[in-house]
Amino acid sequence: MTLCIHGLAVVRGVAVGRAVVVSSGATDAPRYHIDPSQVAQELARMGGARDAVVRELQGLLAGMPADAPSEISALIDVHLQLLLDETLEAAVRGWIVEHHYNAEWALTVQTEAFGRQFDAMDDPYLRERKADLEQVVDRVLHHLKASAGGQAAAMPERPEWQPRENAPRILVARDLSPAQMLQFKEGGFAGFVTDLGTATSHTAIVARGMEIPAVVAARGVSQLVRPDDWVVLDGDAGVVVLDPTERMRAQYEAAGRDAAARDADLQQLRGVAARTRDGQAVQLLANIESAADVAAALRAGVDGVGLFRSEFLFIAGADRLPGEEEQYLAYRAVVEGMHGMPVTIRTVDIGADKPLDRARQGEAANPALGLRAIRWSLADPAMFRTQLRALLRAAAHGPVRVLFPMLAHLHEIRQALAQVALAQEELAERGVAAGPVSLGAMIEVPAAALMADEFLDHFNFLSIGTNDLIQYTLAIDRTDEAVGHLYDPAHPAVLRLLDRVIAAGRRRGKEISVCGEMASDPEFTRLLLGLGLRVFSMPAMHVLRVKQQVLAADAKALATWAQQVVASRAPRELLGMAAL
Ligand code: PEP
Ligand code: MG
Repeated sequence: MTLCIHGLAVVRGVAVGRAVVVSSGATDAPRYHIDPSQVAQELARMGGARDAVVRELQGLLAGMPADAPSEISALIDVHLQLLLDETLEAAVRGWIVEHHYNAEWALTVQTEAFGRQFDAMDDPYLRERKADLEQVVDRVLHHLKASAGGQAAAMPERPEWQPRENAPRILVARDLSPAQMLQFKEGGFAGFVTDLGTATSHTAIVARGMEIPAVVAARGVSQLVRPDDWVVLDGDAGVVVLDPTERMRAQYEAAGRDAAARDADLQQLRGVAARTRDGQAVQLLANIESAADVAAALRAGVDGVGLFRSEFLFIAGADRLPGEEEQYLAYRAVVEGMHGMPVTIRTVDIGADKPLDRARQGEAANPALGLRAIRWSLADPAMFRTQLRALLRAAAHGPVRVLFPMLAHLHEIRQALAQVALAQEELAERGVAAGPVSLGAMIEVPAAALMADEFLDHFNFLSIGTNDLIQYTLAIDRTDEAVGHLYDPAHPAVLRLLDRVIAAGRRRGKEISVCGEMASDPEFTRLLLGLGLRVFSMPAMHVLRVKQQVLAADAKALATWAQQVVASRAPRELLGMAAL
């Protein structure tokens, strides 16, 4: 049955393909494909686990004390009946024999399907049987895990599954951590959709790096879709269609082709210098998460890297922090890959929605206001200096700019700079080559924006992280979809802070950039130009669309209008009205 779910559009474009469901959150049982030659063995494993639970339950019934409440034995009876139900057995068998799912995956997929049927039942007694089924299935999964031995834990999380016909694949998940997103980045998916998430969550940010259409906050999608279902993903409208009719599919496929043709037109702007109509040069830089993103940045014709989020190096490292050599090689790969263009590397921004397990110590109730970013680095100076040494060494291979996230206090600035000096001394003592670095601060909290002048006393450049600046100015958790509608880049308070920081930079003749998602939204390009911004940093996939706006704009003439927008009580009403 065709079903339409509305979510939040985070990456534009249309994708049509078959669903690969990563997890519906019910269980973390391993899901992988078995080789066709392993079918008999897998069926035996399934049968063995089921028989073991049957014996267990029968043993419980036999050993039941005479005075035990009758409900208990009735419940165990229900569990036994569910377990021995032929429909369940046949369906699970089908997933193993026909789809080559491992036993755990076959069982959980079928349990979810039956769960949906139970949910739809009118009779409350029958509806409650869903919980019984899940409980008994848990027992079977427990036995399956034991039968897989150590192997179960080592199974890949990545769905290697390919649809039988060679259709594109759409990744469907309840939620994806940034670490999982990194894992799926190379997976060749045509699009992805999640139940949870917000437009500026880090999951969405990595998705933009993947350059595939994406929708988040499509509530319930991972429960409603079945593996292998056709899915239409409209990343422009933020809509997901499950099980579309053939006609719908054809229409969306045609729309996808049109969008691809428009993108092809944009490609003509690649070699064109980003200059406004009145001759103002604008730098368009790339936001990257790893050296693997450099190729896309070069393809987009950027002028450098404006934000390398180094924390993904730390998140990917699972259970240990990357050492100096490993970090040095990663940074050097980016510096060399950019062929002499400036590379801005942000020191690690761990915490809040990018936690390391290790960093969860204390399980802060309010992680966005907790030990994250520069606070995390300053709390562990040895770890921080390991990163700084790696950055200074990479700077020997090309222009490196070091950027510190989330500074709010002047004493944090002093401490961070003191650590840079110490790292330089340590390298000199070791006789290791280091290069000069330009130093910058992220403006991400209102305190920093209000003190832009003082920040400029210490730094060569500032980069405004609008994702966090909006979060902290408006007190909106950027990962909480319940308050997502209040997250507003055009809020007068946000615009006034932006204006203040850009103006301070211009007065002091120092570079100000914006590297939050706002820089990649063509709706804001003219406003930012009018405020005097000349450096924009964004995921590579947005560069040409923003360049198109830059080429059409008259920055000088936009200045007066931009001040009106900033002073306005309803800036959104004016935003679409710039004729230039
Ligand atoms: C920002 O906050 O705008 C930013 C660029 O940093 P991140 O999104 O990584 O927090
Ligand atoms: Mg930030």
